[in-house]
Amino acid sequence: MVQKLEQIYEGKAKKIFTTDDPEAIIHEFKDDATAFDGKKKGQIGGKGLVNAQITTALFQLLENQGVRTHFRKLLDDRNMLTDRLDMLAVEVIVRNIAAGSLAKRLGYEEGTPLKKPIIEFCYKRDDLGDPFLNEDHIEELGAATKEQVAEMRETGLKVNDVLRRFFDELGITLIDFKLEFGLKDGRLVLGDEISPDSCRLWDKATGEKLDKDRFRRDLGKVEEAYQEVLSRVKGIAKEVGNF
Ligand code: UDP
Repeated sequence: MVQKLEQIYEGKAKKIFTTDDPEAIIHEFKDDATAFDGKKKGQIGGKGLVNAQITTALFQLLENQGVRTHFRKLLDDRNMLTDRLDMLAVEVIVRNIAAGSLAKRLGYEEGTPLKKPIIEFCYKRDDLGDPFLNEDHIEELGAATKEQVAEMRETGLKVNDVLRRFFDELGITLIDFKLEFGLKDGRLVLGDEISPDSCRLWDKATGEKLDKDRFRRDLGKVEEAYQEVLSRVKGIAKEVGNF
């Protein structure tokens, strides 16, 4: 059994610990929720447990489809063992349907389907409000090489294909989501989490939001929405909770 040692970082939704394996870390998923670059704070009961399990199911699915991820093992209901990566300071957003900041940027009504998926890059800097970056900005910052940008774009589209099909089978439309990548032995690896905190998920039949927008926009039934996504995921991803 791997030993959980020292906390090295506390983020908005997770704490990170070293382990007795220098190449591995543990992510402890918290119930804390923030929005608007940390300006809105709260708690979502059971969120840590839900997000750890959904992330596990989705990373296992992606690994099976040939996407390299940091995932190793879900240790218990909210602790996930992963490879230790050097994270890039870039967030990759993949969009199928206009919502949130893209709807505002293009003057589209939320829910407008896009002609093809759109990939965006943002600078991981809360103090700057996670600003939009183009490839020249990324090169200027030295945040990633041209080749890494191309690979993140390609992997983002692949992840989108896999997740879109998976959620569709659960009666959920994948509107958009955010990915984070890191480097291990010089290779790009998908890190962080994929959960209702980092995706927009709408019920296919009713259009009801089943993601963090319920918290951001004070829509109520936040816990229920997260639990609903987990129960649908568990319905087809049998190995979840298998720790
Ligand atoms: N997102 C995220 N973390 C961020 C910014 C965005 O997980 O720091 C996710 C968000 O949940 C949504 C997608 O990325 O699924 C696109 O978000 P958008 O740019 O529309 O920003 P928002 O409207 O959430 O500010």
